[in-house]
Amino acid sequence: MQSFIPPKRTLMGPGPSDVSPRILEAMARPTIGHLDPAFQVLMDEIKELLRYVFKTENKLTFPVSAPGSAGMETCFANLVEKGDKVIVCVNGVFGNRMVENVVRCGGEAIVIQDEWGTPVSINKLEEELKANPDAKIVAFVAAETSTGVASDTKALCALAEDYNCINIVDAVTSLAGIELDVDGWGIDAIYSGSQKCLSCPPGISPVSFSERAVKIIKDRQTPVQSWFMDLNLVMGYWDDTGGRSYHHTAPVNAMYALHESLLVVKEEGLENSWKRHADLSQKLRDGFAEMGISYLVDKKHALPQLNTIIIPDHITDEAAIRTRLLNEHNLEIGAGLGALAGKVWRVGLMGHAASQENVDKCLKAFKAVMN
Ligand SMILES: *Cc1c(COP(=O)(O)O)cnc(C)c1O
Repeated sequence: MQSFIPPKRTLMGPGPSDVSPRILEAMARPTIGHLDPAFQVLMDEIKELLRYVFKTENKLTFPVSAPGSAGMETCFANLVEKGDKVIVCVNGVFGNRMVENVVRCGGEAIVIQDEWGTPVSINKLEEELKANPDAKIVAFVAAETSTGVASDTKALCALAEDYNCINIVDAVTSLAGIELDVDGWGIDAIYSGSQKCLSCPPGISPVSFSERAVKIIKDRQTPVQSWFMDLNLVMGYWDDTGGRSYHHTAPVNAMYALHESLLVVKEEGLENSWKRHADLSQKLRDGFAEMGISYLVDKKHALPQLNTIIIPDHITDEAAIRTRLLNEHNLEIGAGLGALAGKVWRVGLMGHAASQENVDKCLKAFKAVMN
């Protein structure tokens, strides 16, 4: 065996997205101890930068040392206790995972189903909130990566608040790609991932919790079942008040990468990053339209960072097309998931991958393999 040398790909699928050389370079810097004072400075800066991208003053804002799914589990494991009623709005794969989390925490999941490819229905949520006055939490996915749909996070959180529920929001694909305002929209618990619009290598999950959520966690009747994810323990490590105590060993070099990726967003400006995703998505959409390829999602609700296109009828073997894109053009796109398998392709324009160069490359490659 020899050292592994990865092929050079262009990552335009549902994540991971292209990582910029600048971030890879940051990641290759020498490892230092995770309790080194210099590392603690880095931890503080990461928290500050995360507050910037989440648009929050939340004290409890930090990166979980594990992928987006662990951020999801951190939210549910800490906020759901046995018997708690949680309304979960499902409009794709990741909503179903939320249901699974509620059940495994001993909660009672009230599941609202919306058709895949459409946003979470505000009316249906209101009906369930009326029917379940004892519900404690409303959970939904802000940007469903399985379908390419954005839901109205602001309106859903406001509605939950009207019925005295806190909310849990999946922003794995949203963060830095579309508008998101944790404090302005009253989000209580939110998780994201490093490998989508932050364009970091996978494996880190930024999270943030409101004061209200923190109080619920502190007032729990029972300890959090997961030792690793128990925020009461993790905060002894990530908190800046008082001495940091060993909880686990942070993935030091992955934190260098996260710090650099957040700096990149800050330098560009969060709003500019949202706009770049929107503008380039429009260019991609125009290009696909010229080829006669249409989108699954109504433009009003379509995510710029995840473009779900309908596979034309004349394509009988869609997997062969994806294989050709990969082998002949080094281009990775995503297949359809679940009910959409074989019906759609998912073309990501996330973070560093959202560039004019990639839009051109992608359209050119599609033209070549579809002929
Ligand atoms: C990718 C993704 C996840 C899971 O993140 P992992 O890092 O793969 O664990 C969760 N929710 C959404 C919406 C995602 O796109």
